[in-house]
Amino acid sequence: MDEPFYVSGLKFSCKRCSVCCRHDAGFVFLSESDLDKLTAALKMDKDKVIKMYCRWVKDWKGEETLSLKEKQNKDCILWDGGCSVYNERPLQCINFPFWESILSSSKSWKITALDCPGINTGKLHTKEMIDELLQKNSVFPIINKKRGEL
Ligand code: SF4
Repeated sequence: MDEPFYVSGLKFSCKRCSVCCRHDAGFVFLSESDLDKLTAALKMDKDKVIKMYCRWVKDWKGEETLSLKEKQNKDCILWDGGCSVYNERPLQCINFPFWESILSSSKSWKITALDCPGINTGKLHTKEMIDELLQKNSVFPIINKKRGEL
């Protein structure tokens, strides 16, 4: 099998500029573990967190999955001068930009780098580290309405 383009590793250190959290429509999909962390961070019960901060959206397979809401200006609902739950933020945010979709090709990595000043700077993530981050996504599946996970 061909080696991925990131076989020699990729550099990334977040600059905390919030570009990826604001002004642009997008989904932040949530796992049960993410929801538990948010419930604790927001000091609310789970139903209230879902009602106030979450929405059901169709994923890439057309299935309804749980995502964070956005404000009208497309900022993440949890953005308030910075991430208001930074230490308990969802895995999708922790793993950015090491997402399967972004790592699918060097072109996609380069396109993402146009908007993210942290890409190709700072800490070197080895292929092993990147593969481990990718693996975590399958350990914590996104909440899916059809499978009756909530
Ligand atoms: S755009 Fe990149 S550097 Fe800026 S907050 Fe997001 S991950 Fe960090």
